Amino acid sequence: MKILLTGGTGYIGAHTAVEALNKGYEVVLVDNLSNSKKSVVNAIEQITNKKVKFYQKDLCNKKDTFKIIAKEKPDQVIHFAGLKAVGESVKIPLKYYENNLVSTLNVLEAMQSVGCNNFIFSSSATVYGEPKKLPITEEFLVSATNPYGRTKLFIEEILRDYAKANPNLNICILRYFNPVGAHPSALIGEDPNGIPNNLMPYITKVAMKKLPELKIFGNDYPTKDGTGVRDYIHVVDLARAHICAIDKNLENTGVTVYNVGTGVGYSVLEMVQTFEKVNNILVPYSFVARRAGDIPECYASNAKAEKELRFKTQLSLEDMVKSAYEYEKKHN
Ligand code: NAD
Ligand code: UDP
Repeated sequence: MKILLTGGTGYIGAHTAVEALNKGYEVVLVDNLSNSKKSVVNAIEQITNKKVKFYQKDLCNKKDTFKIIAKEKPDQVIHFAGLKAVGESVKIPLKYYENNLVSTLNVLEAMQSVGCNNFIFSSSATVYGEPKKLPITEEFLVSATNPYGRTKLFIEEILRDYAKANPNLNICILRYFNPVGAHPSALIGEDPNGIPNNLMPYITKVAMKKLPELKIFGNDYPTKDGTGVRDYIHVVDLARAHICAIDKNLENTGVTVYNVGTGVGYSVLEMVQTFEKVNNILVPYSFVARRAGDIPECYASNAKAEKELRFKTQLSLEDMVKSAYEYEKKHN
């Protein structure tokens, strides 16, 4: 089976490429390298000892997108490509709408032109907004508080409309919770540009003394210790969920939606303490005001993914913080 991964040199795409190659699938990557590096292709090949085909192209270019998909004729497409920084999306919303929506439309149309009906989409837990209760199930009402989140919501709706009109389509929407960590080889991992927005890459930079201290956004939330609680999932586990989704699409189920998390919430302080203990290093921190737009607590019900995707996470919080630090030490 041939799998085409858009955004395939990105953080989650690269880890998924490794799992797909290990499973014996043929893998094609397309990425414009706006948020990743070409060296990732070599790293994937080094880890798996297999060849991957890479196209450095922008999926907003319809002609290029059609050309690649017509040439490769993939059996399934996993669509990771997209811009993902919430804060940036508030500042340059049109860029986010253009990049995330146009690339998706181009990929879907190009797939249609070659009769490829199997699509897996990277959505996000951000579509749940501030949940009224926990854990979050797939039936919860969806909403968005920023342009990035709205691109995910809009694309989910587009996919439902498209599938309604085309009963042959198999579309799996995966709503990721908080992916962290890196491949155990430390050859691929999370490599954000500039000062990280997300907790784990910020912690690793503080541990490496590249940043003076972690600022913990709020210690007065109604949570176990006052700091924000999230459902962190190891990126290798998340990558494996896509392999389960590939199988699911073969069952001809139309549009399906799954949360991909561990089902367990950890606070910021628990993350810091676990990182310090496992890696035997101090992470200085101070408490500052809450970050605008943050919710107190968020974790998934993973019952549907366990039952229908037959997906179960295997890696622990210790694995997450260890691999994140190993990657940072090797690369920065
Ligand atoms: P990433 O930025 O590392 O990877 C996305 C890749 O897409 C990048 O390599 C980028 O260069 C590429 N890209 C962007 N626009 C493109 C275009 N027009 N044409 C070709 N390539 C393009 O991000 P990631 O963390 O791997 O996320 C993958 C997907 O998962 C994204 O859609 C993201 O919104 C979604 N997601 C990520 C998280 C997270 O916390 N990392 C959480 C929920 C959902
Ligand atoms: N967080 C923090 N300091 C940081 C970055 C994040 O205290 O420098 C907190 C944030 O308030 C949230 C948790 O860590 O409670 C996870 O934040 P992240 O941005 O990684 O994910 P998201 O908020 O998108 O779930």
